[in-house]
Amino acid sequence: MNNQKIFEESKKYMPGGVNSPVRSYNGMDIDPPVIKSGRGVEIVDEDLKKYTDFVLAWGPMILGHSDYDVVEAIKTASEESIAFGAPTKRELEMSKFLCDNLDAVEMVRMVNSGTEATMSAIKLARGYTKRDKIVKFAGCYHGHFDGFLVEAGSGVLTEGIPGCLGVPEGSVSNTLIGRYNDLNQVTELFRKYGDEIACVIIEPVAGNMGVIKAEDNFMEGLRDLCDKYGSLLIFDEVMSGFRAAFKGAESLFKVTPDLITYAKIIGGGLPCGAYGGKREIMECLSPLGGVYQAGTMSGNPIVMAAGIETLEKLKANKDTIYPKIEKLSKMLKDGVLELGKKYNVPLSVNRVCGMMTIFFVGGEVKFYEDVKKADEGRFKRYFKHMLNAGFNIPPSQYEALFLSSCHEEKHIEEFLKAFEEFLKKEN
Ligand code: PLP
Repeated sequence: MNNQKIFEESKKYMPGGVNSPVRSYNGMDIDPPVIKSGRGVEIVDEDLKKYTDFVLAWGPMILGHSDYDVVEAIKTASEESIAFGAPTKRELEMSKFLCDNLDAVEMVRMVNSGTEATMSAIKLARGYTKRDKIVKFAGCYHGHFDGFLVEAGSGVLTEGIPGCLGVPEGSVSNTLIGRYNDLNQVTELFRKYGDEIACVIIEPVAGNMGVIKAEDNFMEGLRDLCDKYGSLLIFDEVMSGFRAAFKGAESLFKVTPDLITYAKIIGGGLPCGAYGGKREIMECLSPLGGVYQAGTMSGNPIVMAAGIETLEKLKANKDTIYPKIEKLSKMLKDGVLELGKKYNVPLSVNRVCGMMTIFFVGGEVKFYEDVKKADEGRFKRYFKHMLNAGFNIPPSQYEALFLSSCHEEKHIEEFLKAFEEFLKKEN
């Protein structure tokens, strides 16, 4: 069976043919390729077409696909342990690694996805502070937990309105919407609701409205507000953890969060999540405290093995991997901007190490509203052109593309060549 046949058949058995909506390329007017295999930066679909991958499973595959050592670690672990639902040494190794290497993490709990990590962190923050309201930012994504699925319509910046069918109004009535990088607006929220706010959750380097890095004074202001009103500050580092830098986005700011959430890279490509932070807060979790959160598969030995191998490799090579990714990412950004100028196509590029978004809009992209001004039609044409040319890139202006330790200068040069062909057609 080839791509088309498999995907047509998949649509009969899975809603939209997929297990996660973004994979369907809904909005791009084409069906997605069905991926068969991958090694390094190359993935191959069921038509045997090859792509240079800039999606990397939406971030986790920072060592490239089927890294030899990660595959070996999975093999070894699976020969002696698939699942026990009991304490194992591998869980300890993972938890110790996270606590030893991340400044804000004194204790950690493993879960199975980013959504599980963020929704559990929110429950913990509510349990610890004995308050109900949370602040999330428009444009930040924290998974599909009901309380996060809120859309802030223009002008409706403080009241939670469900942005998804099936979410009762009651589930979002305690969700306040902040404006990313706008400290005055968040200060107003705190003036009005400060004593009721359990926590503020933020992607310190946002990747779900395209890449936008929070400004230093904004993050410092959030910390001050949380301290003043007794609320917790949560960094959602599901995407930026071990990607924005070895120590993630927490190392890019002079601000320490109370809790942090992780997923993606820490599982080495297997389903994994974690949340951690100050010991005093983490000890509120059951069985020590009254906040109940559990998981049959949490800390699964095979997942831990893949994750530990990935993290140990990143640590051992952090002085070569991150500078290399940084260099390639800069080369890509500079090349794209230069070509935009040459062909007179307005665009801007935001990047933080191996996370990057090309926005088809001129000027600085600092707020969510700036992203909304980007040319969607042009993005769609760009996406189709690049996919045809053999580059797997995210199918939305609101996503980040990723680089891995396996990308080389030649991949960037090839990308830029294909991008130039696209811009020529746009003229
Ligand atoms: N938080 C952030 C910042 C994310 O980017 C994502 C997913 O992309 C999530 C949470 C949810 O993670 P998962 O898809 O593993 O549930």
